[in-house]
Amino acid sequence: MSADTVSVSGWGRTAPTNARLIRPRTYEEAVTAVRGCGTRGSIPRGLGRAYGDAAQNAGGTVLDMTGLDRVHAIDADNGIVLCDAGVSLHRLIEVLLPLGWFVPVTPGTRQVTVGGAIGADIHGKNHHVSGSFSRHVLSLELLTADGEIHTVGRDTPLFDATTGGMGLTGVILTATLQLQPVETSLMTVDTERARDLDDLMARLTATDDHYRYSVAWIDLLARGTATGRAVLTRGDHTPLEALREGTRARRDPFAFHPSRLPAPPSFLPERLLNRRGVALFNELWYRKAPRARTGELQRLAAFFHPLDGVPHWNRIYGRGGFVQYQFVVGHGQEETLRRIVRRVSEHRCPSFLAVLKRFGDADPGWLSFPVPGWTLALDIPAALPGLGAFLDALDEDVATAGGRVYLAKDSRLRPELLAAMYPRLEEFRALRAEVDPRGVFVSDLARRLSL
Ligand SMILES: Cc1cc2nc3c(=O)[nH]c(=O)nc-3n(C[C@H](O)[C@H](O)[C@H](O)COP(=O)(O)OP(=O)(O)OC[C@H]3O[C@@H](n4cnc5c(N)ncnc54)[C@H](O)[C@@H]3O)c2cc1C
Repeated sequence: MSADTVSVSGWGRTAPTNARLIRPRTYEEAVTAVRGCGTRGSIPRGLGRAYGDAAQNAGGTVLDMTGLDRVHAIDADNGIVLCDAGVSLHRLIEVLLPLGWFVPVTPGTRQVTVGGAIGADIHGKNHHVSGSFSRHVLSLELLTADGEIHTVGRDTPLFDATTGGMGLTGVILTATLQLQPVETSLMTVDTERARDLDDLMARLTATDDHYRYSVAWIDLLARGTATGRAVLTRGDHTPLEALREGTRARRDPFAFHPSRLPAPPSFLPERLLNRRGVALFNELWYRKAPRARTGELQRLAAFFHPLDGVPHWNRIYGRGGFVQYQFVVGHGQEETLRRIVRRVSEHRCPSFLAVLKRFGDADPGWLSFPVPGWTLALDIPAALPGLGAFLDALDEDVATAGGRVYLAKDSRLRPELLAAMYPRLEEFRALRAEVDPRGVFVSDLARRLSL
């Protein structure tokens, strides 16, 4: 098992640090790596799609789990899969779709591992119906700091600390997942424009429950009466009977051939990333969307993972990288959401389309991000002058409203706000102290936030 010292960063490329990278190919190698990780500890890593510093560990060890990527068993009658934590959702979809099953929750990219999905307790466009990823995990195997492997079932403290626990309770080696049945690989999609934020929230509140998947792309550079204007796309898996007899789609209902464009240049010209360039892009995108269209058939990849078609798109922001800011505030805190949208739009953050979604019920993970309410996610170039102070002020607003920021996206939150945002933080710390008294599992995120 080789170990090279390399520079490791998150998807936003903001704070790279050097670590010893080890890629175990067997469970025994993973055990050996954890036992021998040294005083700076180790952290498991999947495909590195967390935006910030969650899967890096300055001066210590990073365990690249993508070498353990086997699908062990599929119960095709009941839709249950047992797989290694290093397998990607992309691979799972390829394997499961022809059998009539789909992953129960997918984020905006298929290029995440099952371990990363559990570690961050990810959510998808179906959160209001299906909850977060952990809701569909039946059990998992966890390699803990003492080098032992434990089977961890639902409704146990270790399960609730691990789902959303950002890799800090141990290394997930395998997981057993309950899948979502589908009859085709197509999506039936309704699209509508919302003229401003209030219009958007009213539409989401009134009819989100009619759809399994729902998301709004919001133009945060629009101002005045158009502040918060958006394009809302919602849909569900297309049933087989909706495909006409004799068509290619009907003959091959599970076809899955995601296309890939050439990689973009390693950074976009300044004029495209500045406010005017981004505002123009957002304007064209808003105008191009239909005012209202129903029943459009879309391929899975186009509906769920449009960015996956553009390899390395995260490099367009150049060396400085970018920050992704995602927060949630509960129902009843709409005024906070309105104020933050107004502040972002007045601050003229050059953010390409941001995403607004309505979360449903929370899952039990102690550091799991989703709570019922409104979540907004936006990308901002890290080099934007005054960005730190601006986001610090938004954090205060979010915390005062009882909301929280998403640790899988974070690279800059101040530790003092964490306990207010995550009320079960002390339980998490106590459990870690018990199962990992020497602090074997540690990441840059954990050090920065004293997790
Ligand atoms: C384009 C894009 C869109 C996204 N959209 C969404 C979205 O819609 N919803 C959402 O929730 N997230 C979203 N994300 C974030 C992403 O889903 C999460 O950060 C996810 O955790 C990344 O998985 P990964 O395999 O890349 O893990 P990494 O980024 O490598 O690691 C993430 C965390 O999981 C831990 N971890 C990884 N593997 C293991 C393991 N085997 N055992 C224990 N812990 C482990 C790591 O220690 C780290 O704390 C998006 C990211 C991108 C780049």
